[in-house]
Amino acid sequence: MNSTVSPLNAAKRIDGKGCADQIIASIADRVAILGIQPGLAVILVGADSASQTYVNSKSKRAKECGFYSAQYDLPEDTSEVALLELIEQLNVDDQIHGILVQLPLPDQIDPEKVIQAIDPTKDVDGFHFNNAGRLQAGALEQALIPCTPLGCLHLIQHELGAELRGKHVVVVGRSNIVGKPVASLLLQQDCTVTTVHSGTVNPEQICRLADILIVAVGVPQLVKADWVKPGAVVIDVGINYVEDSSGKGRLIGDVHFDAVAEKAAAITPVPGGVGPMTIAMLMQNTLLVAERAL
Ligand code: NAD
Repeated sequence: MNSTVSPLNAAKRIDGKGCADQIIASIADRVAILGIQPGLAVILVGADSASQTYVNSKSKRAKECGFYSAQYDLPEDTSEVALLELIEQLNVDDQIHGILVQLPLPDQIDPEKVIQAIDPTKDVDGFHFNNAGRLQAGALEQALIPCTPLGCLHLIQHELGAELRGKHVVVVGRSNIVGKPVASLLLQQDCTVTTVHSGTVNPEQICRLADILIVAVGVPQLVKADWVKPGAVVIDVGINYVEDSSGKGRLIGDVHFDAVAEKAAAITPVPGGVGPMTIAMLMQNTLLVAERAL
């Protein structure tokens, strides 16, 4: 991985794209000698453009890994029953090791019902209650861990080494898909973990205690330089689409990158940080399910 020091900023820019490329290449090497072809089914309901981009990237990466890749693009008015029937078929399809339903779903479909319908052993997003419970309980051997938290852990260990015992981690955000599972995962690494959320008083004071600051909120540039301890490692999970005064759009994170980069030891950019690692971890989880099936 090529992490580079930006000429403008002190912090090392963590190269999530480069790290993800290396992981994808090593998965492809493993698949070449595996003896079976891992299969990943990705389901998209509707035509949300951001979701389409994510789904296409996932299918493309699956092919690069040498997986059998099945993409289902379903119309916006797909019924919950029809989606549950498709999941049921995929649950019993031996060619398919991983099933992913891209969120969000249209209003007529209950996402919780859909997630809980996926066979937990094929739940490569790690959102099924069985997998969430296993992570919480530390029963990781049979668990599938959510991809974004796994990607964050990889990047942190790349910067700080595998041993994270005693580090103070502050996680901003408590969603079921990022905040809570990343906090559990870092707790398993013997870190001291504090969660900051929308009800927290003086969040900046708590964030300033962090050796490792993980931000997953969805508020553009919420975290400023005075929220960060000098020398901290900052992982920005946020992906926010913003337009400038001329109407030109771009993606930015939940962290004010330029300001925080002057204080942090290392920081993930948006785009090119956690996002590519999330997809790489999806491929790693799919490979893991296929290996468990051997
Ligand atoms: P969410 O909306 O489900 O949860 C946001 C959390 O932030 C909530 O727990 C809430 O309590 C907390 N929060 C809201 N305002 C806050 C504030 N002012 N201070 C502190 N906490 C506050 O969001 P999510 O699904 O966890 O996603 C968070 C962000 O991460 C979004 O921008 C999303 O697009 C992005 N995301 C990126 C990836 C990736 O691969 N890079 C993956 C998943 C999500």
